[in-house]
Amino acid sequence: MHEVIIIGSGPAGLTAAIYAGRANLNPLLLSGLERGGQVTLTSDLENFPGFPEGLGGFEMYQLFESQAKKFGTEIVFDLATKVNLKEDPKIVKTQNNEYHTKSVIIATGSNPKKLNIPGEKEFIGKGVSYCATCDGFFFTDKHVVVVGGGNSALDEGIFLTRHAAKVTIIHRRDRLRADAILQERALENKKIEFIWDTVVEEIMGDQAVEKLKLKNTKSGEISHLDIDGVFIFIGHNPNVDLFRGQIELDENDNIITDRRTRTNIPGVYACGDVQDSIYRQAITAAGSGCQSGMEAERYIAEIEGKAYPGK
Ligand code: NAP
Repeated sequence: MHEVIIIGSGPAGLTAAIYAGRANLNPLLLSGLERGGQVTLTSDLENFPGFPEGLGGFEMYQLFESQAKKFGTEIVFDLATKVNLKEDPKIVKTQNNEYHTKSVIIATGSNPKKLNIPGEKEFIGKGVSYCATCDGFFFTDKHVVVVGGGNSALDEGIFLTRHAAKVTIIHRRDRLRADAILQERALENKKIEFIWDTVVEEIMGDQAVEKLKLKNTKSGEISHLDIDGVFIFIGHNPNVDLFRGQIELDENDNIITDRRTRTNIPGVYACGDVQDSIYRQAITAAGSGCQSGMEAERYIAEIEGKAYPGK
């Protein structure tokens, strides 16, 4: 029987582990198959406090992980496949095991939204990508398109100019959603061009991506653009399939929590992108992970009739 199982190994899950570990709960953390989560796909985190020179996403993951291990977290490279959270003990089944636990912290993050257009699925890895840090290098001196107008699209678009000869950002409106500082950087960047009021209707090619079919949202005009690759950054979907029917979700599929990261089930907490559709930053994920770790400690003290500081 475990005191707490943490599902997910991004900044939220690992921070929860650091706090639960320091509370002597010996947390078990299921890392999932993509250790470190989305932060590891970021080349340079410039806005995580304490690192004025910036920090690589994978480097951050390694630091978080060693800190969690230092305080007694057992990290298991395994994927949770089924949960029963409504009964006590709570059960978490994985690809390789079955665990029983008093409390669960859900930190499963989110994954990139798809355009769901013809050619998208077919050309994944052949010119369609959702990760500039992973795939940007393959487009050295090429022409790539970025779809989206938020922080991710601009951040990643700017990153891609390190490799690509030209980056065309295609946005469905004539106004960007991204922060002002990123807008300024992108608009000043000589390698970046914008196509406004336009959606991608089809990704076309033979063996790999060769061109896009575009539609102007105002005039309805159809055009084609020759390109070598397309990076899609149009937001994220929370990873909640495992919890459907047990944990309450909002209209965007984010887990509903109160301000103490409590879900609708006592002893089950959610932190990071899986419950946050607004901020989605490494620092806010870590902050909510801290809350979940402390709440799990409080919950276990309560069910065992022990004193908890501040109660
Ligand atoms: P986002 O802010 O939700 O932006 C998604 C963008 O994609 C929007 O411009 C949206 O257009 C567009 N879009 C959505 N669905 C589309 C579709 N089907 N076809 C075409 N365009 C579509 O998502 P995000 O950029 O991934 O950012 C998510 C969160 O992470 C935000 O809170 C952001 O601040 C944060 N983030 C921060 C940083 C940073 O601080 N450096 C970096 C990355 C992400 P509309 O504008 O028309 O809705």
